[in-house]
Amino acid sequence: MDRPAKADCLFCRIVKREVPADIVAETDELLAFHDVNPQAPHHVLIVPKGHIATTNDLLAEEAALVGRMVLLARDIAEDHDFAQSGYRLVLNCNRQAGQSVYHLHLHLLGGRYLSWPPG
Ligand code: AMP
Repeated sequence: MDRPAKADCLFCRIVKREVPADIVAETDELLAFHDVNPQAPHHVLIVPKGHIATTNDLLAEEAALVGRMVLLARDIAEDHDFAQSGYRLVLNCNRQAGQSVYHLHLHLLGGRYLSWPPG
């Protein structure tokens, strides 16, 4: 499904290069960039270029897109030499999970021990 950009969405604006970001990787459908407020030595966000607000809004036909987000995160961890030490992938959905930007994004966190359960 074609997912048009949302004009007032911060991550859509990063995808369109209207807002600067420290870009790590790009494919035809995904963009990965450093989180502006990193919670670990490695903290990268992987976003679809089309606007999808939350995981609740995903369509069954977008399952492979989410899979490719995970594989891109894995590739970034490998490229930056922390795949073997370990990393965490997080998708926050809505208020109680602490979602603050309503454009689907996968957090890739690594480079330190991450406690469990999460806060
Ligand atoms: P979440 O709380 O799961 O919605 O995560 C949103 C993330 O986006 C947070 O970790 C923020 O630090 C990050 N963030 C907000 N604005 C920017 C920006 N302009 N560039 C990069 N990351 C951002």
